[in-house]
Amino acid sequence: MDRLLEDLQYIKGVGPKRSKQLNRLGLDTVFDLLWNIPRAYFNRANVNRITELKDGEAASIRGKICSAGTSRTRGGMTIFKALVEDDSGAITAVWFNQPFMSRIIKPGQEIFLTGKPRRFSYSGMEFNVSEYEIIDDEDIHFKVLPVYALTEGLSQKTMRFITLSSLRGYLDYYPEILHEKLRKKYNLCPIDYAFNNIHFPDNREAYRQARKRLAMEELLLFQIQIKQLERYDPQGDYVVHQEKTDLIKQLATHIPFQLTSAQQKVITEIFADMESPFPMNRLLQGDVGAGKTVVAAMAMAKAVASGFQAAIMAPTEILAQQHYTTLERFFSSYNVTVARLTGGTSETERRLILEAVRSGEIDVLAGTHALIQDDVVFNSLGLVVIDEQHRFGVRQRAALSAKGISPDVLVMTATPIPRTLALTVYGDLSLSVIDELPPGRKAIKTYFIKPQQRQRLYQFIYEQVHNKAQAYIVCPLVEESEKQDLQAAVSLYEELKSRVFPKFNIGLIHGRLKPSEKDMVMQMFKQGNIKILVSTSVIEVGVDVPNASIMVIEQAERFGLSQLHQLRGRVGRGHKQSYCFLIADPRTEEAVSRLQAMEKTNDGFELAEEDLRIRGPGEFWGVRQHGLDGLKVANLSKDQKLVELSRVLSDEIEQSHSNSRIEKYIALKFKKSNQVAPN
Ligand code: ADP
Ligand code: MG
Repeated sequence: MDRLLEDLQYIKGVGPKRSKQLNRLGLDTVFDLLWNIPRAYFNRANVNRITELKDGEAASIRGKICSAGTSRTRGGMTIFKALVEDDSGAITAVWFNQPFMSRIIKPGQEIFLTGKPRRFSYSGMEFNVSEYEIIDDEDIHFKVLPVYALTEGLSQKTMRFITLSSLRGYLDYYPEILHEKLRKKYNLCPIDYAFNNIHFPDNREAYRQARKRLAMEELLLFQIQIKQLERYDPQGDYVVHQEKTDLIKQLATHIPFQLTSAQQKVITEIFADMESPFPMNRLLQGDVGAGKTVVAAMAMAKAVASGFQAAIMAPTEILAQQHYTTLERFFSSYNVTVARLTGGTSETERRLILEAVRSGEIDVLAGTHALIQDDVVFNSLGLVVIDEQHRFGVRQRAALSAKGISPDVLVMTATPIPRTLALTVYGDLSLSVIDELPPGRKAIKTYFIKPQQRQRLYQFIYEQVHNKAQAYIVCPLVEESEKQDLQAAVSLYEELKSRVFPKFNIGLIHGRLKPSEKDMVMQMFKQGNIKILVSTSVIEVGVDVPNASIMVIEQAERFGLSQLHQLRGRVGRGHKQSYCFLIADPRTEEAVSRLQAMEKTNDGFELAEEDLRIRGPGEFWGVRQHGLDGLKVANLSKDQKLVELSRVLSDEIEQSHSNSRIEKYIALKFKKSNQVAPN
């Protein structure tokens, strides 16, 4: 494998100068060059006749250059035109803003072009070129040619030549991690065949096979990497939860609502894990408002009934407080002691709590990051629940687990992650999904409005609040400066209070408030004393105020789709019809399609799939740090089957390889993306 790390200088056809150019493209070694996947292909077998071109339909033509020249528009744009002729007729091919084309394309050359014909007058048609290829006798034996990303001074022809030499000279050193038996079983081609045919496909089927194998290669390495990351060594004793009391039964009859069948299903899955001698490592997904808290509470009850302690960690003070209140109410008549530990807990109180946690007097502890401090010691921690897990890093999760002896772990998220992505990023977690909302929820009516329509919106809010509704108004996060962030929220608050809604009680909440102050504001909002709550995006996660039915998001174009959905999920929890207004003045098409997607559906999973399609996996919470952007071939929204297969296959190959060899390979494959430090 080491030979693959050789400097590119030593490849045939590359010297120090070329190697600098290649470096600029992020290509440093032979290994990089092999994984430098073509961004397109020229299929010279696939040619349209010039007279049969149709306006606006992408096509390929092949012909001879009759004449060529550059002209300039009044706007200062250069246009290079060449008349191309085949045996049916001729057309003018057009390159915009590429003045150097005049040095490349000369009359008499045989050329291959792909692009789009465009009619500009009744009789005239032009061909807008997207890719060109001067046909040379040398590479005539390849029907399909790769098209690579280039940099100044580097031509397609050179790139192809260099790639071809590295395929010929180095493929023998490339590790094959799949035995023939496995390849047969899963219908995968050998790795050398895959590289040869991704660069220079023999035919369509060969390309398909090559792509499949390389996508699988990436997913496999990725899976193995994730498994190594998430694997924590269970230390001998496993926690087995075996109830010694009938707490669960009693609780079940006293929950104030009927559990949905989705909730019952996931509770069964979780209980089965808890009863087994293997440590549970389960991800619970459920859209905002799906009712994950009660599921977590049941799991905690099971731990307590089995003689263990349970802890739940949430990313914000507000949320930890909310869990504490809910759990205390939940367990109030059953002799289960619930406590809360956050950054805001006073020193005296903290000392008392730590003592009681250590002695086992406290059964259930809810809190924030404060839970993972060194001096928090449990008597017998049997279950760890992490809420809104995407807000925590792998290490923080592990730190809490380490406070017990291989406790069961349940991580929860309301940021719906498409299934493929979840399987990939959380390779070693089992997955439970609450795919149903509690009954009686009305779809939240969502409107994307322009800033100019603000007055009408205020009128609407006035009427609604007059009718006992409550509203959130969320100001955008100003990334560069927390200060500006705050300023925006403060001035909106002042404006609403003094001019727009002088009759209503308006509150303001932001990240700079002390925990106790945040708490007070939230309590007042919950009790209905505050009617309209202006907020920076701190309320993003988890807050539950069922009476709030209006959500206004300022500069909504600044938020990602999953964040918008999270924010919207703060309303629509009660029986009232809820509304979400996205005030935005989007400048990009992508932003417009995000806002339209929000108008179209309330379903978080659908939105997540949409997001994955619009932006690729890189933008998902916490995904970048896993190195997912190192995937060059695999496409997480299209290759679902391969993702699932890679999970199975990764177990099979891991057993048949020495760890150090495969680790080296993984490090090589994901090196660039791994330089972005994991948290
Ligand atoms: P999330 O999954 O977003 O954390 P919560 O656990 O906060 O959602 O639940 C949202 C709201 O739905 C809470 O007010 C909760 O009491 C209520 N709820 C949960 N499950 C049910 C159910 N089966 N029937 C009715 N209401 C429910
Ligand atoms: Mg929640």
